[in-house]
Amino acid sequence: MKREALRAGLAQLAARHLQRRRRTVTAIESDAGPAVVVDGRRLINFCGNDYLGLNSHPALTTALTRSAAIAGAGSGASHLITGHGLEHERLEAELAQFTGRARALLFSTGYMANLAAITCLAERDGRVVMDRLCHASLIDAARLSGAQLKRFAHADYVAAGVMFERGGTGADLLVSDGVFSMDGDLAPLPQLAQLAAANAACLIVDDAHGLGVMGPTGRGTLEHFQLDSAAVPILVGTLGKAFGCFGAFVAGDEDYIEWLLQTARSYIYTTALPQPVAAAARAALQVAVSEGWRRERVLQLAARLRRGATDAGITLLPSISPIQPVVLGSSARTLAVSEQLFAAGFWVAAIREPTVPKGSARLRITLCAAHSEAQVDALIEALVRALRDTSDAAA
Ligand SMILES: *Cc1c(COP(=O)(O)O)cnc(C)c1O
Repeated sequence: MKREALRAGLAQLAARHLQRRRRTVTAIESDAGPAVVVDGRRLINFCGNDYLGLNSHPALTTALTRSAAIAGAGSGASHLITGHGLEHERLEAELAQFTGRARALLFSTGYMANLAAITCLAERDGRVVMDRLCHASLIDAARLSGAQLKRFAHADYVAAGVMFERGGTGADLLVSDGVFSMDGDLAPLPQLAQLAAANAACLIVDDAHGLGVMGPTGRGTLEHFQLDSAAVPILVGTLGKAFGCFGAFVAGDEDYIEWLLQTARSYIYTTALPQPVAAAARAALQVAVSEGWRRERVLQLAARLRRGATDAGITLLPSISPIQPVVLGSSARTLAVSEQLFAAGFWVAAIREPTVPKGSARLRITLCAAHSEAQVDALIEALVRALRDTSDAAA
């Protein structure tokens, strides 16, 4: 792009209230709920993905520093050269066990895990059938795979079925998030599993927001629906959300995982995750299991927010997860409400296009096990005020 075009593009973004702005977090204050310091002010974080409040848990930070003393800060190379260490090996085994699968393969990020899962398993003469609201990394992966990408209306498994009607020649994939990241609802996984089976397609579920949180023991959306690895052969999970760390994995049977290890470019051609991070993730997995109250608590807080908001006349999207969005539609108003909340001490980011479809800008409120009931109630009050104050601004 030419410089003038960039400048015009940036000006356009600003004019349409779509310009993004980073805020620099200078400290976290985990003794006061999920609180962060920004510009010298303490804010209660209501838009992170650390649902279980594990980010600053002493078990994780201790594991991280202990491992750093042994393994160093960086891994020094990719997994297939010299970067694969004991902490990776153990974490993979524990993730396989946690998800009830034969194997798990670690990736540096969920973005890269999704690139691997889809590009390695799709065929050029096959189709990738995907929910319209799937995470951007899944869309990018499908595009990169060279297969035919077909996106169905959100959660509409009947529409998805129609996309399989005319037979392709190559292998087909059916792809969905488990919990949708910007909406908080659960995919109709039982129906999608049936559809995949009926069409000999491989079902891939990205459960970045369900793992650790959904299901009776936090094994995720598959556990919630009681679906096993026969129903969902490929499960993608991340370690940067409920597990409070960083990194990601793909879990599946021996053949699938060995194929990814041998062929995934986003696995082979990148530096391995630092071992201290893997050590912290192992600790997170243990705490998530041993402190099951965290999962129960964050879901109770989500229910409390729903009750309180509904009583106050605020409509939330239907969701039983810790993701509780308020859709306002207009980017300008969403930004104004977010800024007013910020001034009141609450951090709730304004989510706008292209992260969500045009005209559906929203406040994506998320709960964390470390929130107090009083913080949730105070957020509702501040939200009522901010919505009232902005009601005639920018429609
Ligand atoms: C966050 C997210 C990812 C990406 O994971 P990273 O580890 O942050 O790269 C992938 N899929 C979904 C659904 C996500 O929400």
